Amino acid sequence: MVEEAKNNSYMEPLRRAIEAKGLTVTTQQGKGRCLTTTVDFSPGQVIISQEPYASAPSNGTINSFCDGCFASGGLKFCSKCRVARYCGSGCQKLEWKLHQLECEALVGLSKDRREMLTTSIRLMVRLLLRRRLQYEKVIPTTATDDYELVEALEAHMSELNEEQLVLYAQMANLVKLVLPSTEIDVKNITKNFSRLACNAHSICDSELRPLGTGLYPVISIINHRKISRGACC
Ligand SMILES: [Zn+2]
Ligand SMILES: [Zn+2]
Repeated sequence: MVEEAKNNSYMEPLRRAIEAKGLTVTTQQGKGRCLTTTVDFSPGQVIISQEPYASAPSNGTINSFCDGCFASGGLKFCSKCRVARYCGSGCQKLEWKLHQLECEALVGLSKDRREMLTTSIRLMVRLLLRRRLQYEKVIPTTATDDYELVEALEAHMSELNEEQLVLYAQMANLVKLVLPSTEIDVKNITKNFSRLACNAHSICDSELRPLGTGLYPVISIINHRKISRGACC
């Protein structure tokens, strides 16, 4: 679900990018923006696929997954930060532009703070760093891979209770400690956590076992029903 953005300059490029796939973005009264089809699809046909704008693995003490491809087994820690894990040099190289910035931020953290790096915190850190890489044109921005699409996602802030608001604000403060130089303030990071709770998707293996979390801002335009904060369908 997407809220009315003040600056919706991303809309026309997005429409052009997805029209060849038989898709368009429309606005429906009471529902906001919706991803709708312009052609018939057959059962089982893939309607849309997208790489996440940002993702983070659910690395715990029992199971851990590669930062790049979410594979498990035989993983090696990044030798500098000892937080990121990789299945091999291929994933490490592919992830390096983003992880280089993340790594610099993580090595300066105390052991206590590193232990507070949950999947959600890492996802937000990576989201903000990816925004910076696009802003600085280190990586390209495209019609379907653009921080403006993230900003346009519904945050449902008015539905947060006091406890959730305090929790997201605390998480935002931790992100600010990891990334003190980020241009995004605590209030906006708090709003982004609410956006993640409404819109982020679990990344699962073929047997639907969760491996991590990702934010797919075009796929999130598809109207989805919120089951609970943090779990959507
Ligand atoms: Zn990998
Ligand atoms: Zn590292």
